[in-house]
Amino acid sequence: MSSVAVAADVIEAFKQQGFEFVGKTDDGWFKLRGMLIPCGADDGIPCEVQLDPTFFDLPRIRLLEIPPELPNAVPHLGAEGGLCYLAKGTVVLDIYDPVGQSLACLQRAAAVLGQILKGKMIEDLAEEFFAYWSGWLCFVDMQGKDLGRQNCIVAQANGKPLWFITGNEDRTTRKLHSLGYQVTDKTVLTYRVKTTAQPRPLTSHWPPETVADILAWQSTLDPRCRRKIHERIKDGQSKRANGVLIIIESPLMTYGFAVFFEHQVSQKTKLADRKDSSFGLKVMPVSVIRIDDRYLAQRNIPKSKTLAGKRIALVGCGTIGGYLSDMLVKVVDFDGLLPQNIGRHRLGFPDLLSNKAEAMAKELKRLSPGVEVHALPVDVRQAQLGKLDLLIDATGEESLGHWLSGRYRAPTPILSVWIEGPGTAVRALLRTNASGACYRCLWHSQRRGELRSTLDALPNIMAGHGCEGLYVPFPASVSVQAASLGAEMALDWINGVHSPALRTRLIDQTYQLATPDCDPLRDRDCPLCNS
Ligand SMILES: [Zn+2]
Repeated sequence: MSSVAVAADVIEAFKQQGFEFVGKTDDGWFKLRGMLIPCGADDGIPCEVQLDPTFFDLPRIRLLEIPPELPNAVPHLGAEGGLCYLAKGTVVLDIYDPVGQSLACLQRAAAVLGQILKGKMIEDLAEEFFAYWSGWLCFVDMQGKDLGRQNCIVAQANGKPLWFITGNEDRTTRKLHSLGYQVTDKTVLTYRVKTTAQPRPLTSHWPPETVADILAWQSTLDPRCRRKIHERIKDGQSKRANGVLIIIESPLMTYGFAVFFEHQVSQKTKLADRKDSSFGLKVMPVSVIRIDDRYLAQRNIPKSKTLAGKRIALVGCGTIGGYLSDMLVKVVDFDGLLPQNIGRHRLGFPDLLSNKAEAMAKELKRLSPGVEVHALPVDVRQAQLGKLDLLIDATGEESLGHWLSGRYRAPTPILSVWIEGPGTAVRALLRTNASGACYRCLWHSQRRGELRSTLDALPNIMAGHGCEGLYVPFPASVSVQAASLGAEMALDWINGVHSPALRTRLIDQTYQLATPDCDPLRDRDCPLCNS
């Protein structure tokens, strides 16, 4: 059926619900008007339904008249009457049944409206709070949890001032420079307070306009936090600043507001004002955007720990290590990543970088200005790595792996990641204690035919000409698979999951996996583990 015919069908179906086609929106959606009858009510409320002509997006449903009995802030109803009846992404519309799905949305909207009118769903206000609290943007780049006075710098972004609360001015400045912003010498007096209460709009009086409004609102959420806020505002007032920024850490989100001090105390007539000159001061909501590395790293893995603050050495910045360091920076922020260039480019695709370690470090800093990376363009055997939380061997060099196993004994955890055959399988081994197998143990086991990756022997394919050295050919996709396995095991490690310690991912499906993921014990023949 043509899309025109489909649209005609949907419009006809809405007509039977009492809706009338009134034209198109600026972005080409169909506009219909009619009455939305809330579930459990007799009378409808005038509303407008907008339909995506391709029926990929949910219909937009907007009340044209907001029932006067509703308070200022109600869940699922925007200021312009927009009704949030289904969260985008929670429901998959069947684009092959546009009539059925569009009508289902209308029905769902009627049900939600019925609940709103009955005063239900108030709990949802907490979840939607961010939609009720928007204003001036303020960025937060803090790793610590310190409360009280904070350092807030002002940057110029395309001529506009932006506020950045920082726990480390150098780090934040690097981030600002990477965005092309200019850091000014201006600062904003800022305090950070903490609450256990999830914010929720005060439905009878919203949004708060004065300090008195803020305090009244906060006292319904968390009286202790209200007291702290009040103290901080008075602290700011006594410092004779132009204003003060208050940042509130709540369990779900960080939000804030700014108070502007008037140099002449206003002569408001409210009784409360006589008691406290701050009550009548104007406030402005501030939307807080976190740009700290912990948040950037954790956002996509909310229940999982990241490698934050760990000292990690990544040895090998070749084909596996390059991807792996990139992934680690995306999932972590860490104190020390030490990509080593061990000098031999054994892998099968072009090495574009003159010095892999230094170039990789530069690229990581460009992508994640908050990261602390130190490149050591020397042979790892001469490098001083200091005390490490985790050593990752991504060199794929068997003999170097043996050397590292001997040099860095338990309890230093070592994660080895390598490719077997010409991209036949990728493997990784995590050794966290002296009873588990080390990388060298695996070599002894495999010589006896144990713990192999594939049932059949791995093909021995080499490419390259004499002078440039031989290499094992395989595509970059295999390196990415190896790096992914390494990143997975590094994340598991920080979350206390040390098993299975030996993991194999078969890439070439013409082979058969010989060793399921397991926890091998140290090998009786390994000279490193039996000395
Ligand atoms: Zn061993």
